Amino acid sequence: MNPTTPAKRIALFGSTGSIGTQALDVITSNPDKFTVEVLTCGSNDELLIQQALKFNPNIVAITDERKYLRVKEALSQTDIKVFAGEKALEDVASMDVYDMMLAAIVGYAGLRPTLNAIDNGKPVALANKETLVVAGDLIMQKAVEKRVPVIPVDSEHSAIFQCLVGEMRNPIEKVILTASGGPFLGRKPNFLVNVKREHALQHPNWNMGAKVTVDSATLMNKGLEMIEARWLFNLHADQIEVLIHPQSIIHSMVQFQDGSIKAQMGLPDMKLPIQYALTFPQRIPNDFTRCDFKKIKTLTFEEPDIKTFRNLGLAMEALSRGGNLPCIMNAANEIAVYAFLKNRIGFLDMTDVIERTMQTVHYIDKPTLAEYFESDGEARSFAADLIKL
Ligand code: NAD
Ligand code: MG
Repeated sequence: MNPTTPAKRIALFGSTGSIGTQALDVITSNPDKFTVEVLTCGSNDELLIQQALKFNPNIVAITDERKYLRVKEALSQTDIKVFAGEKALEDVASMDVYDMMLAAIVGYAGLRPTLNAIDNGKPVALANKETLVVAGDLIMQKAVEKRVPVIPVDSEHSAIFQCLVGEMRNPIEKVILTASGGPFLGRKPNFLVNVKREHALQHPNWNMGAKVTVDSATLMNKGLEMIEARWLFNLHADQIEVLIHPQSIIHSMVQFQDGSIKAQMGLPDMKLPIQYALTFPQRIPNDFTRCDFKKIKTLTFEEPDIKTFRNLGLAMEALSRGGNLPCIMNAANEIAVYAFLKNRIGFLDMTDVIERTMQTVHYIDKPTLAEYFESDGEARSFAADLIKL
């Protein structure tokens, strides 16, 4: 970056999460390149307050309105504006106080702020994959209409994005999304039936928020990422392949029409894709641990076991049928993962909840935004009824 370039003003939505805190580490290491203008979170007032006192943003917003007074009081000696409530987060995304949004809220809750940022003409570094799963067509259409770049943060999509730099006119034959396989790679249903929250939260390679960690264990994460890739890179379902690669060194690959394959590699560390999304098209130096192939020695690959990890099969179905089916699937998955994390249902029950919800909520071929919202609500209440939440 040119030394005279002004610092980029970042709005960090989901600042208290795994991606959010790692993004703040990247920003801390590059104080001349970034300022933090907005911090938002769901309910972690303590961490939000600490972050606000350290980064002195223009605005903080917290979804949980019961925490408003606590945050307001803690920041009373500062000029920081404090807002609370779901609507407040959406409104902040529409304000002209930042240059780029890092969308790092987890789940469906990230959709409206992200949509508002795009509508507001602000580039988005997108970690929140659920946004594209729910309404990828409308999001990408809006991004094209507003000429707003949507830069992926998810490591696989960042890898594909990096492989595509300089290849603008060269069509993609297929993309190969790599997956670690999660903590239960090689396991069969007779093992999975007894899996508890504590086991599922132990990911071998990545340290992430609870929801995405469970999604990685069920392989739903890879299913969500197939749909995310479909919209980010304008692909057909049959151009997206999943390959299990337990070492998580190759973050994904692109195969071009001449058969040439490009891969992006590195140690599994989300700080790298976060930094790349924030500085694109530049690469800037950092002190992250480097990948030493002499130590890694072996990279292995295998086919995903869709018979055991049925969520991936359900996501493939949602991807090929399209319409509101990915939105329905996502809603049912969020309810199922939440219930699993509360020890209300078993590991394999999650798939049954998702499957039955997908079979029941009515299918719409070309939904409007309002219809996506309705489908989400309908799917959530159907799934919750199934679980008796
Ligand atoms: P996390 O659970 O650690 O953090 C989520 C953040 O969202 C927190 O700041 C939380 O306060 C906020 N939040 C939760 N519910 C909210 C609500 N209803 N309204 C407003 N804010 C709310 O999650 P994470 O692991 O940081 O993941 C964030 C997103 O990035 C997810 O969509 C995930 O799939 C994606 N992602 C994460 C990783 C990773 O390594 N953690 C990797 C790739 C993609
Ligand atoms: Mg990923």
